[in-house]
Amino acid sequence: MRILIDETQLAAGVAKLAREIDTRYSDRPITVVAVLTGSVVLFADLIRRLSMPQRVGVIQASSYRGGTQAGELVIDAKMLIDVKDRDVLVVDDIFDTGATIAKLRDELTAMGAASVATAVLLRKVREEQHSVRPDFVAFEIPDEFVVGYGLDYLDMYRNLPYIAVLEPEEIAATSAQVG
Ligand code: 5GP
Ligand code: MG
Ligand code: MG
Repeated sequence: MRILIDETQLAAGVAKLAREIDTRYSDRPITVVAVLTGSVVLFADLIRRLSMPQRVGVIQASSYRGGTQAGELVIDAKMLIDVKDRDVLVVDDIFDTGATIAKLRDELTAMGAASVATAVLLRKVREEQHSVRPDFVAFEIPDEFVVGYGLDYLDMYRNLPYIAVLEPEEIAATSAQVG
């Protein structure tokens, strides 16, 4: 495993993200929505650094069907609180192709949100990407498969306090173990 962003760097990145979000909204109340499951670690750290009044909700987006390749993207909003006429901030772990953020934006807008902004910890720098961009990004990273700080491989590694690149042999060993 190769550490890409260590604990100290993550803390600084999240603090910077929070300052940018605070500046954008000032003291306007927001509804902040965690995209399950990958954003849970970031979410807990981020919302405690935001100073405006917040309602907190969750939504689930799953596209990685047990691997490192994306499968069909499914959004589950059954547990989401009411977002009608609210200023919504969506928090996700990583912006890769942008399909997840684009679909979440459309669905929350269709639910009547007054505005939808998006914040992500990581944005992969890659060629094919949706035209929709996240509003707030803590770190840009190369196009490699990363785990830790909420991000998983086969639901493992979310607990790591850093972001790391999984080596091919670790991918193979993990799927042999839990897959
Ligand atoms: P997108 O829809 O932008 O292509 O992908 C977003 C979702 O794919 C993320 O929320 C995350 O669940 C998953 N994903 C994309 N890249 C990575 C990665 O490098 N590592 C992990 N663990 N998940 C990723
Ligand atoms: Mg995700
Ligand atoms: Mg995943």
